[in-house]
Amino acid sequence: MSLSRHIDPEVLIRESKDKGHRRHLAGTDPSRINQPYHARYGTASIPKFCIPSKGVDAEEAYQLIHEELSLDGSPALNLASFVNTWMPEPANKLVMENVSKNLVDQDEYPMTQNIHTRCISILANLWHAPSTHNAIGTATTGSSEAIQLGGLAMKRLWQERRKADGKSIHEPGPNIVMGANAQVALEKFARYFEVECRLVPVSVESKYRLDPKRAMEYVDENTIGVYVILGSTYTGHYEPVQEMSDLLDDYEKRTGHSVPIHVDAASGGFIAPFVHPKLAWDFRVPRVVSINTSGHKFGLSYVGVGWVIWRTKDYLPKELIFELHYLGSVEYSFSLNFSRPAYPILAQYFSLIHLGFSGYRAVALADLKNARLLSRALERTGWYTVLSDIHRRKPGFQGAAGDDDNPEVYLEGLPVVSFRFSDAFQQQYPEIQQKWIQTLLRAKGWIVPNYELPPDLEKVQILRVVIREHLAEALVDRLFADIITQNLIDRSSSVHAMEMLEGQHIVRSDHEVLGKMEKGSGTRSSGTYARQC
Ligand SMILES: *Cc1c(COP(=O)(O)O)cnc(C)c1O
Repeated sequence: MSLSRHIDPEVLIRESKDKGHRRHLAGTDPSRINQPYHARYGTASIPKFCIPSKGVDAEEAYQLIHEELSLDGSPALNLASFVNTWMPEPANKLVMENVSKNLVDQDEYPMTQNIHTRCISILANLWHAPSTHNAIGTATTGSSEAIQLGGLAMKRLWQERRKADGKSIHEPGPNIVMGANAQVALEKFARYFEVECRLVPVSVESKYRLDPKRAMEYVDENTIGVYVILGSTYTGHYEPVQEMSDLLDDYEKRTGHSVPIHVDAASGGFIAPFVHPKLAWDFRVPRVVSINTSGHKFGLSYVGVGWVIWRTKDYLPKELIFELHYLGSVEYSFSLNFSRPAYPILAQYFSLIHLGFSGYRAVALADLKNARLLSRALERTGWYTVLSDIHRRKPGFQGAAGDDDNPEVYLEGLPVVSFRFSDAFQQQYPEIQQKWIQTLLRAKGWIVPNYELPPDLEKVQILRVVIREHLAEALVDRLFADIITQNLIDRSSSVHAMEMLEGQHIVRSDHEVLGKMEKGSGTRSSGTYARQC
């Protein structure tokens, strides 16, 4: 047998079974009910490709799926994700009590709808909408849907302006401007809704994010808007909303074209208001017409809720709003989905009233403090360079020890630590590849992604850790120790082994991501951005 042939484990297992294993699946045999664990599927195949003719009892189904899922990574050790993975027990109780409610059934669940509306008012107020009463918004499944809606509204308004001026909306068509560091949801909007996507390349000088001056080279009369990101998924840097707005003010004065801003505050929408309340990135900037955030990131709800809010009703064109008439009253709907779970919205409201302003501030400050701790420790090794800047002091801020509790001392940004091998390290150990750190940490249970920066910095790879609430200081210590002891300095002889391991890793993840797709038939994505636009 050739050892190099392609091995399909499913086929080999099937071929290795004797006929006794192939018998038709029976439902749970009552006489087996007292048999131990896995009575039936201990030796028979678990249904994977067709529905079994008879089912198994609920306990057994639960146990089977529960076991299989134990192979998933631990959400708490998933430092790749911004998504919240912990809520206190009473929140879990509330979630379970409401797990079957559909948000769209507004007449059946009027109180749920009421709570939805309260969340919108709270966010509109937190983000300084001119009048909470006049602002309009909706829950979404996440920031992605919210970003699509924000983009669609800007596209419609551009079309209306063009038509009013007697100009074509097709030749040339609309475009939208954003940094090349944009999260994949932003590029999806452009592609799905047929808007030309103009990606502004990033540079070290622009802090790996949108450079407003450079962005102006991409703006013209067909620009429906600029997406500004608070903060970048790569390094956590906030994009400069005010500076972008000032340049667009100048542009409007010169040309008469008014280009609005939508702020993608997926993460920052729940950090900046609490940590840097004086930073004007929100509706205080008049050019900001809409803002989205992910309730399930630093909003501290569970996965399944985002929000989009418009400054006033004027910025949400009427054609995007559907009127639902029921029981003599009218409800409005402007979302891409119809049915959706209501519990993430209830969990959002739970966190808002449970934590309050001071609670969110305390959580964000703790996250930032831990992120600074990790950043400083990594830089002290000399092996790593940290690209995020939240541990650096603002120019002009000298000062005493104990500053760690005063966020005003430090540069603004998300509690994200992006780092890479230092130049000195790369020179000394050119054979050691940074992506191996990801693989080695994975063996310890940590999920820390290693990926390329966006164009024009794609040659630079970064490792990224998102510090979330559950990652207490003790865990940060442990993570740091693992990043360091996992280092390969003493193990150059294992270079070959690592290369083999990485090879397998890549094949496996390709298989998982693409499923049955032909190679090349999808756009390869790092998970945060797509390469093409
Ligand atoms: C996470 C994220 C998104 C996508 O948000 P979802 O809530 O996952 O749909 C978009 N933009 C930025 C900047 C993000 O961090």
